[in-house]
Amino acid sequence: MNFFESDIKYLKGVGETRARLLDAELNIRNFRDLLYYFPFRHIDRSRFYNIREFSGEMPHVQVKGRFISFDIEGEGARKRLVGLFSDGKSLMQAVWFSKVNTLKDAYKTGTDYVLFGKPTPYRGAYNMAHPEVSVYNPDDPPKGWQGVYNVTDKLRRAGYSPKYLSGLVKNALSSPGFASIRDTMPEEVVREFHLMPLREALVNLHFPRNTELLQKARERMKFEELFYLQLHILRYARARSRRIKGVIFGQIGDYFNGFYNRCLPFELTGAQKRVLREIRGDMRTGRQMNRLLQGDVGSGKTMVAFMTMLMAADNSFQSALMAPTEILATQHYETLREWAERIGINIRLLTGSTRAKERREIHSGLLDGSVHMIVGTHALIEDTVQFKSLGLVVIDEQHRFGVAQRAKMWTKNSVPPHVLVMTATPIPRTLAMTVYGDLDVSVIDELPPGRKPITTILRHDDNRMEVNRLLGRELQAGRQVYIVYPLISDNPKLELKSVEAGYERVCGLFPGYKVCCVHGRMSADVKDAQMQKFISGEARILVATTVIEVGVNVPNASVMLIENAERFGLSQLHQLRGRVGRGADKSYCILMTRPNIGGDTRKRLGIMTETTDGFLISEADMKLRGPGDMEGTQQSGLAFALNIANLATDGQILTYARRAALRVLNSHPELVETQGSDPDTSEGFLPLSADSINTLRLELRYRFMKQVNWSLIS
Ligand code: ADP
Ligand code: MG
Repeated sequence: MNFFESDIKYLKGVGETRARLLDAELNIRNFRDLLYYFPFRHIDRSRFYNIREFSGEMPHVQVKGRFISFDIEGEGARKRLVGLFSDGKSLMQAVWFSKVNTLKDAYKTGTDYVLFGKPTPYRGAYNMAHPEVSVYNPDDPPKGWQGVYNVTDKLRRAGYSPKYLSGLVKNALSSPGFASIRDTMPEEVVREFHLMPLREALVNLHFPRNTELLQKARERMKFEELFYLQLHILRYARARSRRIKGVIFGQIGDYFNGFYNRCLPFELTGAQKRVLREIRGDMRTGRQMNRLLQGDVGSGKTMVAFMTMLMAADNSFQSALMAPTEILATQHYETLREWAERIGINIRLLTGSTRAKERREIHSGLLDGSVHMIVGTHALIEDTVQFKSLGLVVIDEQHRFGVAQRAKMWTKNSVPPHVLVMTATPIPRTLAMTVYGDLDVSVIDELPPGRKPITTILRHDDNRMEVNRLLGRELQAGRQVYIVYPLISDNPKLELKSVEAGYERVCGLFPGYKVCCVHGRMSADVKDAQMQKFISGEARILVATTVIEVGVNVPNASVMLIENAERFGLSQLHQLRGRVGRGADKSYCILMTRPNIGGDTRKRLGIMTETTDGFLISEADMKLRGPGDMEGTQQSGLAFALNIANLATDGQILTYARRAALRVLNSHPELVETQGSDPDTSEGFLPLSADSINTLRLELRYRFMKQVNWSLIS
């Protein structure tokens, strides 16, 4: 029996009953589970810190010195004992919020104490809340570093503390089998990336000897986790592309060239050209393309989509463009039709509100091939929609579509069509490599020339007059205005502004202008009718919730005002802001907040005023909110499944891990060979060590596969 696989009940200090409890509460069944149950923080009792050394995020540490004075401050619930503590060179405060009087009498000035706690930044200095206080005894042996483990309430009640777990880990690390464990990473990878060997890493993760070794150990385990994740994703993508043949668009013909040479309404940006080349490369290979096209709002994805659709037409294939809402589909249709007509392409629109007669006509046109391009909503997915030869599907604003819906488009041709997924929500690099890691990614990182900048300003309720004047001025100049609210109706429990109350207020403020209103509780018909009023210019002000976020194009709109901006994520604010700045004139994005937002919120919103780069914003957003809150990870559950790596902060390790995984796959092509049609049987992994197969099974197969919707696969 392999050490890692040994049942936890055989570990010294466990036994049958405790083993059952560990399994039920923490999913710890064997030695591996225990050793991979990492501390969530560490405490350093190996030495005494100087107060002066405190900086950044600190572990729990100990400080030696004397109390200078004690004061009771505040009243009632805020009553607290503040001890001024000196380590002989600098001062800090120790603060207690309970047992104030007892503690004041218990602790003395002039005695040498050791304070143990977590230094926390407070008003420009550090303090310690509720430190552990003990009288200094020079004969006490140093205690060293220690890991602190999460335990459940049930375990705690049963008397199993984090210290108990720490003891178990110690027993496991000193049991005879541990000395002979084999590394779970391929040897060449450990060597090349200077990783700490597994045995050393496990010891240092649980009982580090110093900060540097702890750092190295964490790095190694993060690398391992991300390496196997990448191996899994890349292997999956390869197996898929090997299994699934794609249609070949062998030639660039008259449609593409004719349009490019004679009909192009503007010069393509360098980024658009590059992306088209990348797509063109895919189309020739005989493999099916699965490409994610990222480009900030306004970067010109539609033209790239259209020219890709022309490649299909040149090879006698039909293409479909799918958008999440009727309004968007209609807008796309109008744009594309104008271009298509110049070169004699037959393009049609199919949505839920297409009349029966026209619908039948379109259906038969798609079936006999006389309709070359189709733009539409979910209506395209219906079984009644059949194609003569569908070669390409373009999906706009992909996160609004479920994986199943996308997959359905696959079945509409005997060979699956190429898929181009377009998104305007920039995805941080690390997410692109993981959640979308099996897709090829293209980025349009350049905006068409001549864009007028959007001025973003941060204001609060006390600045209403100024803001209203700005709105009035823009309206008078013939412009249109968006106003976005976090709520539909007022809620007595929340001090937030709502669409309904806002509508009344705005109508009163600007009586001369028509106001329309859109929110999620309206039926689709009503919503579309209201939206249409704004698009046509009949209504000059649109009050709405974030339902307007996606894709709507009203070039005449010059102001985006967002109420309670503190309630929105940065990426969402960025999307909203992208609704303006589409016409020739100067535009404004006004972020309104409560008067007294905290420093963190101010900093967060400050990012919006500093940059309009969607990628910078999404990276910052992820650092602030954590990867679990990002669009995409939420659905996949990936961010929660990761044990030690953090997609917000471990981008560099991820990049290296991906490189290593690619290299391993290239030098072991047999890893991709799979049994039957399931690309996930583990038989292919034989060349790696037995332990790495186990790691793969445990770390990936069971944990990730259940939770991750890998891709477009049907
Ligand atoms: P998005 O990437 O947000 O979908 P669009 O495709 O809607 O952006 O393009 C935004 C606007 O920019 C459109 O009006 C489009 O016609 C215009 N546009 C796209 N590419 C260029 C270009 N290379 N030069 C000038 N204008 C362009
Ligand atoms: Mg678009």
